[in-house]
Amino acid sequence: VRAQGDEEAAAKVAAANVDTGAPTIFDKIVSREIPATVVYETEKVLAFRDINPQAPVHVVLIPKKRDGLTQLSKASEGNKDVLGELLFAAKVVAEQEGLEKGFRVVINDGPDGCQSVYHLHLHLMGGRQLKWPPG
Ligand code: IMP
Repeated sequence: VRAQGDEEAAAKVAAANVDTGAPTIFDKIVSREIPATVVYETEKVLAFRDINPQAPVHVVLIPKKRDGLTQLSKASEGNKDVLGELLFAAKVVAEQEGLEKGFRVVINDGPDGCQSVYHLHLHLMGGRQLKWPPG
């Protein structure tokens, strides 16, 4: 598990690379160039286990097509459908993972949100008692 300072530094480095249009690490997971443990897939959404899990269950859910959706704050009216699909997929994966006692869904946006990959994604976390507020 990386220290909080590392997370913030990684987010700042990533923020410097926003909107380059280059394939993100998540695009490479979609194209199967980079391996990932995929737990759920629909036509528009892919869900896979986070490489640096912060909870016993930590799944990342992404739109397969980034389409300018680097972060939630860049969403447009045309992205509403896929945003709904992502949230519903989080509910389906939570069920699939047996998180009947509860879970958390998070979207980190921008440097203050500690976003490190500029391809919109939801974090689904559960399997332990989560604390509030997050850091
Ligand atoms: P962010 O900090 O909200 O941008 O979240 C990015 C997440 O992607 C982090 O939790 C990383 O651990 C995760 N991540 C980065 N690269 C990979 C990978 O190759 N496979 C799975 N998860 C990854």
